[in-house]
Amino acid sequence: MTHYPNTQLFIDGAWCAGSTRHSMPVRNPASAEVIGELACASPADLERAVAAAQRGFAAWRRISAFERYKIMRKAAQLLRDRVESVATLMTLEQGKPLAEARMEIMAGADTIDWFAEEARRAYGRVIPARQEGVYQLVVKEPVGPVAAFTPWNFPINQIVRKLSAALAAGCSIVVKAPEETPASPAELIRVFADAGVPAGCVNLVFGEPAEISNYLIAHPGIRKISFTGSTQVGKQLASLAGLHMKRMTMELGGHAPVIIFDDADVATAAKTMVASKFRNAGQVCVSPTRFLVQEGIFKRFVDEFLKHTQQLQVGDGLHSDTKMGPLANPRRIAALEALTEDVRQQHGKVHTGGHRIGDRGNFWAPTVVTELPNSARAMNEEPFGPMVMINPFGSFEDAVTEANRLPVGLAAYAWTQSAKTAHNIAAAVETGMISINHLGLGTPETPFGGVKDSGYGSEGGTEAIEAYLNPKFVSQFGL
Ligand code: NAD
Repeated sequence: MTHYPNTQLFIDGAWCAGSTRHSMPVRNPASAEVIGELACASPADLERAVAAAQRGFAAWRRISAFERYKIMRKAAQLLRDRVESVATLMTLEQGKPLAEARMEIMAGADTIDWFAEEARRAYGRVIPARQEGVYQLVVKEPVGPVAAFTPWNFPINQIVRKLSAALAAGCSIVVKAPEETPASPAELIRVFADAGVPAGCVNLVFGEPAEISNYLIAHPGIRKISFTGSTQVGKQLASLAGLHMKRMTMELGGHAPVIIFDDADVATAAKTMVASKFRNAGQVCVSPTRFLVQEGIFKRFVDEFLKHTQQLQVGDGLHSDTKMGPLANPRRIAALEALTEDVRQQHGKVHTGGHRIGDRGNFWAPTVVTELPNSARAMNEEPFGPMVMINPFGSFEDAVTEANRLPVGLAAYAWTQSAKTAHNIAAAVETGMISINHLGLGTPETPFGGVKDSGYGSEGGTEAIEAYLNPKFVSQFGL
């Protein structure tokens, strides 16, 4: 088997075990075998990490944007150079097919590059004054040390957006990466250390999530919080951050509607959405989930969707013919079992899947359900797995009502060949992002974030770096 390393903490520029020597096991989701250990941080380690981040911030903010850009570009290149070894670690710990792991890592390098460039464009402005001799300047300053909390579904991508935006802005960071998938995040941190980021600018910790977030969010040395994960945990962390007056970015759950109108290109829509739905075994916050298909094409769309779904090869992500790997942890199996049981009780039609595959590892068959009433749990809770619900709709208004029914609003998708319908649906859906007639979400240069219970703030586009900057107003007379 490929070597899987034990993962250490990274504090103040050095890899280390936690001060209590406490560790946790890491399992391969394809086999459930323990493949390594990770070090856990104690409060003393967290205190050291914050102190290091404060010193790192003092040094990093004085380094010019041009120098920061050069170091970050170097880190991006190192990540590309190491793609094969890092992808193998990611597949071993997370389960996704190697091809997806490679794509995530290469996209991560692109994200670093883009934010590196943005570092050089964090412009302020000059505002015309009301009095002669007065200069009114808006200067952008980094907010300070950041605490970031990221989940296991995209071990690198969830961190790299926060880390790159923070470093580009001149902030330092303490990352609490996912305990279930620690080795690939550690490799991401390593490329920054190897590229020459000064000690203390980037710190990596693991441990008991609530203990770490309670400690870091309340710490006066931390000035900004960024969290990606469930709405439930996000609300807890947002209230704690509010109590301590910390700026925050919250990228939370979704339940993306996919609205397919009668005039859509059914074959392309079905093929494209199957590839998108079962990517990362559906464990994606923008995963297409509630399919609303107009009555005239309902049957045709379901047949096409099933045809592509049934061709998916499920297996160990390390095998070259695997298209969908296992779920990342046994909690997802338990969640899908409960949702499927409820689907049956609610008389939804399960066309394919709806069961676990084998009893070794966390494999779940791609599942397609139709005609499920809105009272079913899966129509209200994010399945966060390879499960799709497809229901028919009549009018444009019916589709909009259903799309906006839930309290979340992260991503949405629509398919139509009418420019007018495309325009109207983009305006009507309460969502942070909508992609029409193709898959167009998630590039570094475009905004990424939700509305309503899906959180606030953006992790892409020029908005993303603003979240790590404070505008300072300087009014000066007599230059
Ligand atoms: P969870 O809510 O327990 O954890 C989600 C993430 O938050 C994990 O990475 C976890 O380590 C972290 N977390 C949990 N409690 C925390 C705390 N008090 N402080 C800091 N971090 C904390 O759920 P889970 O079983 O790991 O995942 C299930 C649900 O989480 C999914 O159904 C999905 O809705 C959501 N999720 C969302 C994303 C996303 O990309 N938005 C990613 C992973 C999970």
